[in-house]
Amino acid sequence: MDLKHFEELTQTAVWELDIETGYFHWSDRVFEMLGELPRAFQINQGTLQNRIFEDDRFRWQKALDLTLKGGPEINLDKRLLKSSGDIIWVNVRAKLHGSEEKKKLVGVYTDVNDEKQRQRNLHLLERVNANVEYAIVILETMHGKYHDSGIAYINQGFSKITGYAFSEAKGQALDILVENTKIRRKVLQGKEPVTIDCAMKTKQGAHCKIRWSFTPLEAEGLVLGLGLDITNQKSPEMLLEDAASAARIGSWEADFVTQKIYWSPTTYELHEMESGYIPDIKTANTFYHPDYRDRIAKMSENAVKKSKAFEYEAPIITAEGNSRWVKVMAMPKVKEGACIGLYGSIQDIHQRKVVELELQQSVKELEDYKFAMDQSAILAITDAKGVIIDVNQNFCKIAQYERDEIIGKTHRLINSGYHGSAFFREFWQTISSGKVWKGEIKNKAKDGSYYWVYTTVVPFLGASGKPIRYLAIRFDITSRKVADQNLLNTLREKNTILESIGDAFFAVDYNWVVTYWNKQAEKILGRNRSEIEGKVLWDVYADAVDTIFYTEYHKAVETGQQTSFEAYYEPLQLWLYVSAYPSEKGLSIYFRDISMRKKYEISLLESRERFQKVTQATNDAIWDWDLDKGEVFWGKGFKTLFGYRSGIRKVASKTWTSAIHPDDRENTVKSLETAIDNLKQKNYLAEYRFQKSDGAYAYVTDRSVIIRDTEGKAKRLVGAVSDITIRKEHEESLRKLNLQLERRAAELERSNAELEQFAFVASHDLQEPLRMITSFLQQLEKKYTSQLDDKAMQYIGFASSGAKRMKEIIADLLAFSRSGRFDSDLDEVNLNEVMNSYKLLRDQLIKEKKAEISYENLPVIKTTQAPLIQILHNILDNALKYCKSNVPPCINVSVKDENNYWLFAVADNGIGIRKEYFQKIFVIFQRLHNRDEYSGTGMGLAIVKKNIDQLGGEIWLESEVGVGTTFSFKIPK
Ligand code: ADP
Repeated sequence: MDLKHFEELTQTAVWELDIETGYFHWSDRVFEMLGELPRAFQINQGTLQNRIFEDDRFRWQKALDLTLKGGPEINLDKRLLKSSGDIIWVNVRAKLHGSEEKKKLVGVYTDVNDEKQRQRNLHLLERVNANVEYAIVILETMHGKYHDSGIAYINQGFSKITGYAFSEAKGQALDILVENTKIRRKVLQGKEPVTIDCAMKTKQGAHCKIRWSFTPLEAEGLVLGLGLDITNQKSPEMLLEDAASAARIGSWEADFVTQKIYWSPTTYELHEMESGYIPDIKTANTFYHPDYRDRIAKMSENAVKKSKAFEYEAPIITAEGNSRWVKVMAMPKVKEGACIGLYGSIQDIHQRKVVELELQQSVKELEDYKFAMDQSAILAITDAKGVIIDVNQNFCKIAQYERDEIIGKTHRLINSGYHGSAFFREFWQTISSGKVWKGEIKNKAKDGSYYWVYTTVVPFLGASGKPIRYLAIRFDITSRKVADQNLLNTLREKNTILESIGDAFFAVDYNWVVTYWNKQAEKILGRNRSEIEGKVLWDVYADAVDTIFYTEYHKAVETGQQTSFEAYYEPLQLWLYVSAYPSEKGLSIYFRDISMRKKYEISLLESRERFQKVTQATNDAIWDWDLDKGEVFWGKGFKTLFGYRSGIRKVASKTWTSAIHPDDRENTVKSLETAIDNLKQKNYLAEYRFQKSDGAYAYVTDRSVIIRDTEGKAKRLVGAVSDITIRKEHEESLRKLNLQLERRAAELERSNAELEQFAFVASHDLQEPLRMITSFLQQLEKKYTSQLDDKAMQYIGFASSGAKRMKEIIADLLAFSRSGRFDSDLDEVNLNEVMNSYKLLRDQLIKEKKAEISYENLPVIKTTQAPLIQILHNILDNALKYCKSNVPPCINVSVKDENNYWLFAVADNGIGIRKEYFQKIFVIFQRLHNRDEYSGTGMGLAIVKKNIDQLGGEIWLESEVGVGTTFSFKIPK
């Protein structure tokens, strides 16, 4: 179905937009709707735009663009301009149709004018805007201040006549309507109604003439102007004619003679009466509202009496029962000097009147409100720069200035100096951006006293959107403020809580003025109460602006939510824990110096870091058990030593416990628990077997330090586990070795004892048969010398010397086995005496050998005498014995006190000993010579050594073959 058919069928105003060409197709009804002949012109974006009411163009274009881009279908109300210039409200619905290549937008207009009008009529000022032929203008006079006064409102009629839209006319001076300055003044003074015909230029530049009737509304500052377009004023008859239809003016005539009344059709219409009804003078009056009947009747009588014209405005009640305001103008019909009737007009002024009445009503309300405000509030109006234009009586009263002293000044006049620059900066920022500012201000009156006002400043915006003046509404809150201050003072004096709480505390009001500052705050922040109370916090702490403190406090105020945070205040180098609580009056802030705690936390962190490094550096397995958290940290050593994962693990004790050897587990765990429970114990040491990840057990020592809180409760244990398996193994093998040695020593002792026993027994028991052999050999020699030949005698000689030698050996053996066995009783031994008696004993031998034995001042020493004498005798005997054959022996004996021991030296000038024999000579039966050269058994030095060993001393020698030998020995004191 094409558009035309559709339109015919539905009687709808349809249109189409060809998206490719941008041309519109309108159905005939659309043209009709706009008061045009069908297809009167071609429609494109431009022509359509002109037909859309200016205020709606942007909205329409936006919706159209959106839909063309694939957005939702169009559904909006807009105003179209008819050919007559009238506005018609239509609802537009439009949707995209067609294929992708040939898309078109199809729309439908529905006339919603009536609906819109109805809506508009609901609003007071919109009603003024209704289809009134008059131009209506409301002027704001600003109390006769002409340069500020201007047009506050115009209706549609005004636009129609002058071509100016509301947005263009608003704020314009009266000059555009009234040329004459004098008349303008008169109008704006607002003292009396002014009626004037004024010529003006329409927006389009055309000449027009308007008859203005300006009426000051009772409200101060407003003037209502009603304008009638008299540009093309016609003759009175024509006007009457036009008026009858256009302005709904009917005519009437009352004939006193016939008592009949003639009504024109319009008059019938106004009364909503059937044309068949014939009104008479009596009944005509009954159409008026009862309140008006008498007044009108009297007016008529009076007019008739004086043959004078008159007019009035009154409401009639129509036949249908509707109330309608009419304006009646009456002229007397005089015949021969007598009034025989009246004729005149009756005009429907209902809409105008209702508007006027309502306006009056709302102006009255406004005035009441203004009066009430004027009575209670302190008011001031300033210009954009803050210069005071007007103040009310209350302002003068509280500030104690005369009105004249205030006007033209700024509020600096009453500045108390109490609020800082930041306060006023914020104040001006707020109001100059067009926002309402509210707050408490302290002002100074003329006599120097202070007063507090709760202030609301409302900016009035000009056409440019910038404030052109400000209205300040203030209420006196001095008493409350004083009460608040008193309350705080009382609090300070009587309530020790705010002062005695450990926390620092201060309070600010909503202007950030500090109202309270307790002692702790003084202490922590180093600022006395007197320095800050009454000041704006951010003026005093300007360095805290935009810090976390600033943002958090503002957040608390804006959201009404309490906030807590930790922050570092750089200038004082303090860590603070802060809680801010919003209240009705402002913000209460509690804070505490937590610098110590923070420092501790930081050092703890650092020490942990250090600790971690240590764990990496040491061979031990380091562990750190946080008892509160139930976490244990296992250092790298646990990996390297035992193959366990290092790092933090939960439920510390279990992991550890299960790895302890079952035999060690109970004791180890118990001793640890006891250590933790003992409030005074600082260390814990345990040795146990610890299972490695491969299942093998390692011997470990576990040393730890127990860290406790002030009450002694264990908080943390830090320990080191060392693997002592190798040491343990060493210890074990050492122990085994010792055991073997001990056994060996015991065996040796036993065999020695046995040997000694044997030597003793042998030497002792052998002596007897030897003596027998010797004595029988002697008998044989004695008794049978004669019977035996030389050979036999020689044999007997061999046997005797063998027996003798054997006797010597046995004696020496006995001596050896006896040596080293002596009582440990100590004797005072005078070594000089020992030497003397030796020389006496060997006197013969010494003489034979021409030997010389020297010694000087030998000491008296405390020792066991027998072994020492045996030692000296044997060494001295050797020195005498092993001398050179042609050199007499020369022997020197010396004894030195060497603190802990005595050092003996026996030096000779004998044959000497080769170095390789130095050790051999001390061994039993070992000798370097055969018996033919030097006699001996090889036992002497063995006995010496045995005795010296027994005394805990040692013996050594120095010798040179052919020069001599020195035997040295030392025995402990
Ligand atoms: P002997 O009974 O042979 O003297 P000793 O045990 O007293 O046995 O001495 C061992 C050996 O040491 C001697 O045979 C001798 O060769 C050597 N000897 C001991 N004292 C001296 C000395 N003063 N000068 C040289 N040789 C000595």
